[in-house]
Amino acid sequence: MPRTATTSAPPGLLTWGPRELPVPYVARWSGESVSTAGLVVKPDGSGLAYEDEVAADRDGHGVLWARMGEAVGVGRPDYRAMSSHRQRVAALCKLCQVCGGPADRTAKGWLFLMPAAPPGEEGCAEPEPIEGTLTTKPPICHPCAELAVRHCPHLAAPLYVRSRKPRVWGVFGGFVTPSPTGALVNSADTYMPYGDREAAPWFLASQLALELTRCT
Ligand SMILES: [Zn+2]
Repeated sequence: MPRTATTSAPPGLLTWGPRELPVPYVARWSGESVSTAGLVVKPDGSGLAYEDEVAADRDGHGVLWARMGEAVGVGRPDYRAMSSHRQRVAALCKLCQVCGGPADRTAKGWLFLMPAAPPGEEGCAEPEPIEGTLTTKPPICHPCAELAVRHCPHLAAPLYVRSRKPRVWGVFGGFVTPSPTGALVNSADTYMPYGDREAAPWFLASQLALELTRCT
């Protein structure tokens, strides 16, 4: 059962298991399954839709989203996966991805935590330029940034980035298109910018993508 941390951790932070490992607000629980049931091609062939589609299945840009249940604390947390709903809320509202409270913001911008180098490229001399980086990871608050560095193996050499303007850029997810036999086929996950009228009808979003601009 998940519990609320009792030590110096930020309020609202869930922990899990006998070692009381912190569970990020955006982490997906095994009870939160993705369902593509009812996903079809529109009768006029112009794109994807749900048979029983409701307004909440699309965002303000008309992009269709994968359906995922909301069941915090049910089953096991998956630290590598994010809940579509909580990721989107945190990215839009600038909530801390770990505790769900307000993310850290100073005159230099919102705080983001990035791995310094992609896996397998440790020791890379030239850091990648950060300006304009696309990310699906929401910002973070100060206490949680320290906590994450202590607990996340992939943040061994973290990069603290401040972005004055984390801009809603588009979505992350995959294209779903009909094969010659009519069955729907998923592509590998990728980013899609908002405003791409040709691609958008065939895209199934699972996360909101931010572009980090005016970075330090
Ligand atoms: Zn936090």
